[in-house]
Amino acid sequence: MAEKKLKIERPRSAQSRFKNLSVEPEFWKHKSLEEMNKEEWELLCDGCGKCCLNKLEYKKKIYFTNAHCRFFNPKNCLCKIYEHRFEVVKDCRNIDLKAIREKPRWLPKTCAYWLLDNGYDLPSWHPLITGKASSVFEAGVSLKNRPLVSETEVEDYEDYIVDWQDL
Ligand code: SF4
Ligand code: SF4
Repeated sequence: MAEKKLKIERPRSAQSRFKNLSVEPEFWKHKSLEEMNKEEWELLCDGCGKCCLNKLEYKKKIYFTNAHCRFFNPKNCLCKIYEHRFEVVKDCRNIDLKAIREKPRWLPKTCAYWLLDNGYDLPSWHPLITGKASSVFEAGVSLKNRPLVSETEVEDYEDYIVDWQDL
């Protein structure tokens, strides 16, 4: 991913997103994605980090690699430059309705936005169900503890294609 300028933010706590919530309980069950406000929308992200993997597209199919964006922190699965990520990384994608509905699908099949938009409920390990940001790690569906490389070490992405079941 191309880099414009570098300004690393102080590490955030993944759990801080779930403190002092002012959203309706189980809002995702009675609101469509179109109806959600910004806070609700942000809370839907389970923090898996899998959208920060580099991907290849070939013959209308997406191939995920285990090479993550250079600004991804594999220890907490958070972006190191979240507040200004679009200014720094030109191909960092905003997760909006267009991105969620894009074909071929490039978000992982566990992504909460993709699940809700396709008629599924949130999985039992989702932090909005458990109240714990760490439940996505404990369920083994995030990038934490997976064999990853930073894109800075990659010469040919084809050498890094993975076929993990949850992508
Ligand atoms: S794949 Fe979806 S749920 Fe996972 S970090 Fe990205 S936007 Fe959030
Ligand atoms: S800039 Fe941040 S959010 Fe965007 S791909 Fe990189 S790590 Fe992920």
